[in-house]
Amino acid sequence: MPTRRRVVAPSTAVACASPPRKPRSSTTHSSSKPSEEAARRRWHAFVRDSLAEYGERRDRPDLAGTSAMSVHLRWGEVHPRTLLADLAAAEAGGVPGDAVATYRSELAWREFHADVLHHSPDARTQSLRTVVPDDAWATGPAADAAFDAWAAGRTGYPLVDAGMRQLLAVGWMHNRVRMVTASFLVKDLHVPWQRGAAHFMAHLVDGDVSQNQLNWQWVAGSGHDAAPFFRVFNPVTQGTKFDPDGDYVRRWVPELRGVEGARVHEPWRLDPPPAGYPAPVVDHAHERRVALADFERARR
Ligand SMILES: Cc1cc2nc3c(=O)[nH]c(=O)nc-3n(C[C@H](O)[C@H](O)[C@H](O)COP(=O)(O)OP(=O)(O)OC[C@H]3O[C@@H](n4cnc5c(N)ncnc54)[C@H](O)[C@@H]3O)c2cc1C
Repeated sequence: MPTRRRVVAPSTAVACASPPRKPRSSTTHSSSKPSEEAARRRWHAFVRDSLAEYGERRDRPDLAGTSAMSVHLRWGEVHPRTLLADLAAAEAGGVPGDAVATYRSELAWREFHADVLHHSPDARTQSLRTVVPDDAWATGPAADAAFDAWAAGRTGYPLVDAGMRQLLAVGWMHNRVRMVTASFLVKDLHVPWQRGAAHFMAHLVDGDVSQNQLNWQWVAGSGHDAAPFFRVFNPVTQGTKFDPDGDYVRRWVPELRGVEGARVHEPWRLDPPPAGYPAPVVDHAHERRVALADFERARR
């Protein structure tokens, strides 16, 4: 039977490639000035060069395979209907229908989250469904230390740390990594989603209450049409699958730059371990069992 929380107090010194700052560029794909013109340029370049491969590349944080339109949509520099019209034209012009359909479905998620928040404004702060008992959540100094390690990118899990450092450095994070980092906070560190959502909102250049809070609820399993709570992202297998050569991790975690290939996702296996990089703050396999036991308790 899993025991209660055993969060190891981490070092919170950040060794980011860049110090935390409010970003000027919208994404990591390349810098872009905020304006309607910049939004249009980026969108047309994406449709021309990348839309056809969107389905295959959109989950890879090591590639610039997504459109980076979220910040432009967030600030009203482009309307989703404009994107839909251009997608239809692209399909008519020969871009494969499945790529276009995949992109359209992502825009539909955006509208869905906005609609949910419109009808349930409390979802901004409250779970739409209870998934674990109240006593499942970590509290006190150990929880604070775990949260600080997560926020600083010092959990000892490279994909999580790379994402959190990307967020601090440029105010943006790839969707796959947003899911992994959010899952890690809620299901490995047992910290309520609201705390992570507040941190994201403080740093994201595309930060939008409906998209952020409802995606956090999706990951936490508490939203409408959410991922089931028992889906716990494994930060190592997510890394080896979606950052297969480790390029994304090496880009954002300088302590791991000397580690070649996918071995970068399990630095604790290296002898000697990379200098300056923390040991894992928790054992993922153990915390997954704790989370699932909490979930079962709530169902009884
Ligand atoms: C925990 C968490 C927090 C998030 N917070 C935000 C946020 O504050 N603001 C925000 O705009 N997005 C948020 N997202 C959704 C998603 O991560 C971003 O929209 C996406 O990474 C933006 O990159 P892109 O424009 O290159 O995406 P693309 O893959 O090119 O997608 C195209 C567009 O579809 C929409 N879209 C894609 N994925 C999602 C999604 N999961 N949910 C809703 N719409 C989506 C976005 O408008 C995006 O610009 C969050 C996701 C998670 C898991």
